[in-house]
Amino acid sequence: MRKQIVAGNWKMNNDLAQTETLITSLKEQKQTSNAEVMIAPTATNLWQAYNSLKNFKIEVIAQNMHFAESGAYTGEISGSMLKSIGVNTVILGHSERREYFDETDEILAKKVDAALGKGMDVIFCFGEELADRKSENQEKVVGDQIKNALFHLDSAAFRSIILAYEPVWAIGTGETASPEQAQDMHAFIRKTLADKYGSDVADSVSILYGGSVKPANAEEIFSKPDVDGGLIGGASLNAEDFFAIVNAF
Ligand code: PEP
Repeated sequence: MRKQIVAGNWKMNNDLAQTETLITSLKEQKQTSNAEVMIAPTATNLWQAYNSLKNFKIEVIAQNMHFAESGAYTGEISGSMLKSIGVNTVILGHSERREYFDETDEILAKKVDAALGKGMDVIFCFGEELADRKSENQEKVVGDQIKNALFHLDSAAFRSIILAYEPVWAIGTGETASPEQAQDMHAFIRKTLADKYGSDVADSVSILYGGSVKPANAEEIFSKPDVDGGLIGGASLNAEDFFAIVNAF
């Protein structure tokens, strides 16, 4: 059985007081699904969030990390630093990191290696832009993103990888891939994995969908056989909405 996962990416939102308020609301929500729940607050609030949620079944994860262990990388945070405050999972390859911080497949491959080397789990994000979809190039783009950043790994490494298909045109736009578009792409991703690593690996990796998931559309998207959960941006900033999505399975 693949894990069902709903992860909230808070992006650069919520100062310390707002983080505490939102976590208090999250603790009041009732979970009726079996999904694993994760939240990714901003780096300055990870320690606070980790301590507040220590006894709850909500994992606190990071939005990014550097590939180096330590050294002259002003402003950056390493996997060891995250691990030292109890953070064991990191989001890598988000389209906003690719677009605004020039993260290439090559950099991401190094970040993936660094995270796995620290024994961390990775939520690896990728997705095509609108122009790629309009030119029906989406499978080529997504296939290349996966191959370039992940296909140097051995099959055992995939126990620590969660994939997140996030079409760029659907992130923060209110525009969602249809459940059929999501299913088609997730099936393609699983086949890409199966061709390289075999069906045991392909069938065991959780593939999340991200892009304007809301309480109103989560159930239909999550009902698709190859969609194992969601990476949620905007709707994760409201505890009721986030848990409505968590409970949409
Ligand atoms: C995201 O940033 O990963 C995301 C999916 O954002 P949103 O849900 O706001 O589209």
